[in-house]
Amino acid sequence: MSEWLQDVKDLTLKGQIKVPYTWSVGEVGSRFLVALRDEKKIIGNRCKNCSTVYVPPRKNCGRCFKDIDEWVELGSKGIVTAYTIVRYDYPLQPTKAPFAYAIIKLDGADVGFVHIIKEGLDKLKMGTRVRASFKEDRKGNILDIDSFTII
Ligand SMILES: [Zn+2]
Repeated sequence: MSEWLQDVKDLTLKGQIKVPYTWSVGEVGSRFLVALRDEKKIIGNRCKNCSTVYVPPRKNCGRCFKDIDEWVELGSKGIVTAYTIVRYDYPLQPTKAPFAYAIIKLDGADVGFVHIIKEGLDKLKMGTRVRASFKEDRKGNILDIDSFTII
């Protein structure tokens, strides 16, 4: 180390960078998101080997590793199986606080679907029935479902 640097302490600065990006969601993800956008439908897929129904759909079964090629239309209703309430705003959140991130088991599905709940947070509990509310202006992403509402 140079002598003139001996008394210098490293300084760490915090910051953020914005990195624009695009990526392909693949054929399975595309079909799922197009159904949300164009038909306001939530579709999943079923493994023919073990009958597990996934939503969002997957290309391969996470349980038996077989390819999945059977599509199923799920309703827009389900039950909350887990949740956490966000009470503070933070950059990149999908909406203003307070809201809940929830894992929702849609009727007919075998796995949880992660989304948000904006209203009725004081009534929210495990097993609460909810329904998807779609945006009018849909763009082909997961937030074409605005949120889930308590029914
Ligand atoms: Zn399977």
